[in-house]
Amino acid sequence: MNITLETPLSEIPSVGEKRAKSLSRLKLNRVEDLLFFYPRRYLDLRNFKQISKLIPGEISSVKGRVIAREEKRPHRRITYLNVAISDGTGVLFLIFFNQPYLKDVFTPDREFFISGKADFFRGRMQIVSPLYEEERKGRRDWLLPVYPLSKGLTQKYMRKILKFVMRRITDYPPEILPLRDRQNLGIPNIKFALQNIHFPVSDINLEKARNYLIFREFFILQLGLLMRKEKEQNRNVTYTAGVDTELIDLFQSLVPFKLTRPQREVMQDIIVDVKQGRVINRLVHGEVGSGKTVVAIFALWLFSRMGYQSALLSPTEILAEQHYLNWQEFFLKQGITVSILLGQMPEGEKKKIRDAIRSGELKVIIGTHALLTENLEFNNLKMAVVDEQHKFGVKQRELLKRKGENVHYIVMSATPIPRSVALTFYGALDISTMGELPKGERKVVTYIFRRKEKDRIYQFLRYQYKQKKQGYVVTPSIEGNEDIESTLAEYAKIKKELPDVPSGVIHGRLSRREKEEVMRSFRQKEISILVATTVIESGIDVPEASHIIIEQAERFGLAQLHQLRGRVGRAGDVGYCILVTYSDNDAEITQRLESFVTAESGFEIAEIDLKLRGQGDLLGVRQHGIPPLKIGNIVKDLELLKTARLEAEKILKKESPQVLNEKFLSGVFTNE
Ligand code: ADP
Ligand code: MG
Repeated sequence: MNITLETPLSEIPSVGEKRAKSLSRLKLNRVEDLLFFYPRRYLDLRNFKQISKLIPGEISSVKGRVIAREEKRPHRRITYLNVAISDGTGVLFLIFFNQPYLKDVFTPDREFFISGKADFFRGRMQIVSPLYEEERKGRRDWLLPVYPLSKGLTQKYMRKILKFVMRRITDYPPEILPLRDRQNLGIPNIKFALQNIHFPVSDINLEKARNYLIFREFFILQLGLLMRKEKEQNRNVTYTAGVDTELIDLFQSLVPFKLTRPQREVMQDIIVDVKQGRVINRLVHGEVGSGKTVVAIFALWLFSRMGYQSALLSPTEILAEQHYLNWQEFFLKQGITVSILLGQMPEGEKKKIRDAIRSGELKVIIGTHALLTENLEFNNLKMAVVDEQHKFGVKQRELLKRKGENVHYIVMSATPIPRSVALTFYGALDISTMGELPKGERKVVTYIFRRKEKDRIYQFLRYQYKQKKQGYVVTPSIEGNEDIESTLAEYAKIKKELPDVPSGVIHGRLSRREKEEVMRSFRQKEISILVATTVIESGIDVPEASHIIIEQAERFGLAQLHQLRGRVGRAGDVGYCILVTYSDNDAEITQRLESFVTAESGFEIAEIDLKLRGQGDLLGVRQHGIPPLKIGNIVKDLELLKTARLEAEKILKKESPQVLNEKFLSGVFTNE
């Protein structure tokens, strides 16, 4: 039989209808799928424990001879086999359910490798449904692959079919790099890699195979991302007249503070893109408070000067209001029309604004999700900025871009993004990093308090009020909804405990007027304590706020805590962040929160967060538009990821996109 990558598995002789179904449940339909179906782990036959040293709860391997076996039938439909093996140091019991044929496998005196999780049960050490492999003379395969299985499949069968396929296959997938490059990188070829990932003959070969396949996976991903990036950017925009770096100086003369070096650099990046006739596709990220808003304003201003429309999308109404409040005057002074559009506005008012956007009368528009609705049309939108982009889904983010032709696109993140994530999720964007903070490093001291120490927190709040300080008390959102009840309950408690301290409450269910009023009185220091849902997390900038209490801090992600902490200590004073935890004795939670207390920068926190949560949380989500990673780990294999990026950039310069596309990318980036 002639086997190729395309051969359906159902055509392989040993695969019947039933097995084809089982394989298909693992998304294994063609030979190619099977080749890239990697072992979950390996059974290492050189590495086994003495039975007497087994520890309950641990996955371990042992080697022993069968001393007895017994078949049981506790129910009509259940049988199980109980096998006792010994290695001279102790006896281990193996339990197999509903596999009566094993009776003839585990016959007395035969010797087996056994692997699985040991349990202590009724005074005996046992392993339920272990992996097993009979010992035989002259063995050379010491590392046996262990695959994820579905019903109807066994490890033995998976090995058998893979061996069969590998013996007969006539074409392997295309080599990713020419031989010389592979030699430089110490990478063998694809055939070697696939053979050794399934049936490694040595640790060194396994390591090489793994590295090769990880590299290959990253390489293909990067190639796809870079090609997407090229496609988006090279659309030859022509309106470059009058765009020059002098504009940054002009802009500087119009804003009330001296631009920082990173702010100027990002503005420079934007200008260079436009001058070169490229469509901007850029991620701007940096520490909380690094002044990303001004960069957004610059971009809006730049395009409105040229007569085009530009839009700024914010995740919350409060944040949109804040941007509008802060920058409305700036635009009006330049004779640039500006407005805000929010979902909560009266329908008549919204319609008026939408009409003015459609006619082109309005040049700059700041708003929330209301900007994304279908009935909103622009006259000539050319610049779209998305603030706090992580609050939007990929589809939502892109909607704004689709409201015009060749729209320049800038997404701003709230906190810094680790390199590994930048290279994958945002791999199709250019990236600008805002390093230094305009007002110098913020100083915020962080404490962890237990729930039972609430009294001390009330004392703290009263003391701060006496010192004429302002701050926030934040309650978590539960299951994705802003939990307004718990915010209101907290507010009621504070009113009761601190009747003499002026306080207010803000949450998503208030009307726009009410929100505006609360924020205004907080900004004007009429309120000392603002109790809030997480609505304040996004970009709220009240420089005088000096402290923040975060209730049930364990419910927040670290990045989110960092953003909340970023709300205080901005005016040069030391700020305070108090995490109140409701789970007193959970070591894992305590450790996580403590790592937050000591972490200095948003970058550090983002790295810790990524390590704790793993890439699974981030990757593989179809809506991100990147294929799930099967073997690579963006945290552990960062070096390979970086190399893959470089190599992909190199090959893109040499070969035509069409050839590369056909060779490597067919079927990988499915949502294109
Ligand atoms: P973020 O990067 O978190 O979005 P913001 O844009 O909200 O930060 O800026 C934080 C604060 O710093 C704001 O009060 C803003 O007015 C101020 N700011 C921004 N740039 C500068 C600058 N160059 N000099 C002084 N203050 C600045
Ligand atoms: Mg911001």
